[in-house]
Amino acid sequence: MYECPNCNGNLKFDIATQYLVCGHCDSRFSPYERKKDTDTTEYYEANRFICPQCGGEMISGDNDATAFCSYCGSANILSTRISKEKAPSHIIPFKITKEYCKKAYARKMRKAFFAPKEYKSPEFIDGFRGIYMPYHSYCFNQKGPVNLAGKTSKRKGDYIYTDHYDLTGDLDAYYRGFYYDASTSFYDSISESVAPFNAEDIVPFTPSFLSGFYADVEDVKRGTYLEEATKRANNNTYDALCKEKAFKKYSVKSSANERNLNTKLHTEYEGSQNMMYPVWFMSYRNGDKVAYATVNGQTGKVVADMPVDIKKYTIGSLLLALPIFFLLNLLFTFRPVIVLGICMLLATIVAGIYKWELGAIHRKETYADDKALFLKHNKGGGYNPKKKTAAITLASVLGLIPFIVMALMFSAQMPVLLPALLYLGSMIATIVICVKGRKWKRECGNIKGGKGYVLTAICQGICSVIALLNPVHDYWYYGGVVLLLLTILWIITDILRNYNRLAMRPLPQFEKRGGDDNA
Ligand SMILES: [Zn+2]
Ligand SMILES: [Zn+2]
Repeated sequence: MYECPNCNGNLKFDIATQYLVCGHCDSRFSPYERKKDTDTTEYYEANRFICPQCGGEMISGDNDATAFCSYCGSANILSTRISKEKAPSHIIPFKITKEYCKKAYARKMRKAFFAPKEYKSPEFIDGFRGIYMPYHSYCFNQKGPVNLAGKTSKRKGDYIYTDHYDLTGDLDAYYRGFYYDASTSFYDSISESVAPFNAEDIVPFTPSFLSGFYADVEDVKRGTYLEEATKRANNNTYDALCKEKAFKKYSVKSSANERNLNTKLHTEYEGSQNMMYPVWFMSYRNGDKVAYATVNGQTGKVVADMPVDIKKYTIGSLLLALPIFFLLNLLFTFRPVIVLGICMLLATIVAGIYKWELGAIHRKETYADDKALFLKHNKGGGYNPKKKTAAITLASVLGLIPFIVMALMFSAQMPVLLPALLYLGSMIATIVICVKGRKWKRECGNIKGGKGYVLTAICQGICSVIALLNPVHDYWYYGGVVLLLLTILWIITDILRNYNRLAMRPLPQFEKRGGDDNA
């Protein structure tokens, strides 16, 4: 706690003036003027608040008792102790006042019709807390001669002529500040979306900036994101090279296909710095889930998890259903075989969305979208974020098949056998979706619903058979349509029931970070 030299009142960092201001006599001091006797450039003295509920820790320059935890949202008096903290090298001080932050958030919430009432209430919004988030900032340099393979192609008659070129040049690049989240209590998905921060406001760190604010504890190892940062530096430089005027007319391999970029571009890691970036932070707790709302403390960008009030949502969807009903009415003037095709397409799409939702829940709950958190929970490592996409792409491509069928039928009045075979294709797509989706459902544990999958596959099967047999009576087709619509409804209910599991996060459980390893 910083005392005013004139009156012993409390000094707090004031965002509007960027000075330490005394709450009692209004004196102002530059943040760099005030230091405690015990502060050095490497360490400074501060208070650590520890949440008895989740074990989350925060640092502050003040020792005012804090009545709630920003990470798990529980209302508890946090226990506090004085500690020696390692000082980051630089900081971006808060530029946006709490008033501005609250307004920006409220503006965003005006559009969130389905958000729970509490999530928008003024008392809740007042809970925004200024927290400095720790980041690792990596530096690289790339210097030396470069050699790229390029080519141009020309078409002459039936031949294509390709000329190959060796492109050479001198590279002199320097990266300062690829930053990555250095705290496991701050999700990567949030820290990435609340970025960017502008380098122009970076100033040397001094603990005065923390008076009236909090800082999250840095607990991610320096090297965790080095691989990602290196890749980013390489790809950036490579893409910039390709766009270089002299190289532009040659098609150069894309950086994704290029190997050994490290040696090619002479990438050298120059070390990392610890930074603190400002974020207004708030949490909303509902049962065993928590949602976070954040506002970038420098730029005012709002990023918030969007939980949904299921009651509000159901009423909203019912209202939405009316126009769909009329649309369906319209559909029934089409040939029944086409209506059936449209419904199969819808069912495939809806099953695909459900599978996407389950996949996203699965990633969130296994921390696959946060490398540092993943490594913390899986001590053996094995982080591989790429796996997820291939199956989804395949399924969605297959899901387009019925669409293509209908287009073909419109244009050429094809015989019924071919469309029927293609209907079978859409059924196979659904089965792919089902198998993968059910696996995720099992791994996520206690997820509501899921039977819709099997039902869709069965109904798609029945409908394919109907199309294949091409019965004389239209009732068969309409029967299939009704079956499909019912399963679609079933799946949509499941999607809704699981939505908040996706929009919110599991409650944090921090391991005890142990004693003060800096002391
Ligand atoms: Zn004073
Ligand atoms: Zn907590």
